[in-house]
Amino acid sequence: MTKIFASLLSLSLFLTSCTHPQPQPVSSTATPEPDPMTTPWADRSIFRDGLVPSAQSALDALNGASVYHIEFTIANNLYEITGTEEVHYTNTEDVPLNEVQFRLFPNILGGTMQVSNLTVDGNGVTPAYQLNNSLMVVPLSAPLEVGQSTIIKMDYAVTVPQTVELNYGVLAYYDDVLALAHANPMICVYDDEGWNAELPPQDGDVTYADAAFYLVRIHAPKDLTLVTSGSEISLDEAGQTQVLTVANGPARDFYLAASPYFEEVSQISNGVVIHSYAGKELQNGAHFALQVASRSIEVFNRRYAPYPYTELDIVATPNLALGIEYPGAIAITTRIYDVSGDYRGAPTSQYMESTVAHEVGHQWFYNLVGDDQLDDPWLDESLTQFATLQYYADTYGSQGEEGFRTGLESRWSRVSNADIPIGMPVASYQGGEYGAIVYGRGPLFFVALKNEMGTEAFDVFLKEYTESLSWKIATPEYLQSLAEQKCACDLDALFNEWVYP
Ligand SMILES: [Zn+2]
Repeated sequence: MTKIFASLLSLSLFLTSCTHPQPQPVSSTATPEPDPMTTPWADRSIFRDGLVPSAQSALDALNGASVYHIEFTIANNLYEITGTEEVHYTNTEDVPLNEVQFRLFPNILGGTMQVSNLTVDGNGVTPAYQLNNSLMVVPLSAPLEVGQSTIIKMDYAVTVPQTVELNYGVLAYYDDVLALAHANPMICVYDDEGWNAELPPQDGDVTYADAAFYLVRIHAPKDLTLVTSGSEISLDEAGQTQVLTVANGPARDFYLAASPYFEEVSQISNGVVIHSYAGKELQNGAHFALQVASRSIEVFNRRYAPYPYTELDIVATPNLALGIEYPGAIAITTRIYDVSGDYRGAPTSQYMESTVAHEVGHQWFYNLVGDDQLDDPWLDESLTQFATLQYYADTYGSQGEEGFRTGLESRWSRVSNADIPIGMPVASYQGGEYGAIVYGRGPLFFVALKNEMGTEAFDVFLKEYTESLSWKIATPEYLQSLAEQKCACDLDALFNEWVYP
């Protein structure tokens, strides 16, 4: 997320017919197309086309990742969602599990989410709710042993708030735009804390998720333009309804934005199709965002790892952050699309450029490399701010780098350059500290780290950090030990000065 005070500046076919036999007329020679929503759990081939070639090895590597099959309907009023979710969950931890925990985020984002008809392997179960009904604990009748899988199925209904006042409007139907974030029951991360779930503070991102695979079918009024994470598998129309099927993964979330007023511009860049969606009056911003995203992918591909997907969507929503990141999609606030004007005392184009570069950077540091966004926000936000600095350096040379770094320094100066650690949980920062430290001082730590390690070792470190942690969860300890390995130096003093509380 960029906050408002942010920077200024084949086996498959066989298995399908085997597991889900379809009636075939004896006389017919045509092979009916299998319904993608009945793809067997272990079959990842449907996700292949959404990934660039270098990322396709993840399909086999992540064989224990959760697989979501979700089908939902957007009502004509555009703020009520009803759906069914079926998840194939595998215990990839090192202990048997007695329960599986899901987040029901709409219940703490100003809306509601209700789950019904919950089953585990076909047997009805009664869940328990915690954390203001944002956590659903699904009991298992017998412990799920390491390596074993279970299938959890439920119906759910969501009411989307018609305001953007809570959590920047990540989940909202407002100004004819539906922003549907974190709106399906999401499995929590099980880590060294056990099932890791807490109430997110208002300031930061709300999710912490493992990489998973999502097959999603959406029924929606046909006049809506639908923008989603992932790649389209099929789009059909039936009467006044459109039916879109999407494959998304590996990914840490599924996002959808929709409006009857979106217009689209697109371009292909570095093997990635970039689409930019905004209302008619916002088209100059939509075009500019496209150019910035294209340059960003080029810089980050070269520096960190290839952008994993074949598609990236940029969508204008009335959110109260500047921008918000989702897998394969970024939402940019409509307020900065008039890029020929000024916004808050600076050219709006500067806001647009730094925001788009930042949100595209999150595709590496949040989605590809995951982290606990509530406990270690510096691993995604500070590092993404540093990536944005590298974008300016690589795009505009030392003058561009200097300009953006000055913005970071002035941001830190809002707390009088206090040496508050950058490595604290979101909830531990008071008032304006979170923005000043995590978005201002945090990226300056990476500048200090680069100076300490030397540019060559640092560049190797950041590339290897990204590649070695792709689709995994980063930790501060791993980051430090990898950096020390690459510079063959002791970085305790530097990390104690900047990072650790
Ligand atoms: Zn961010």
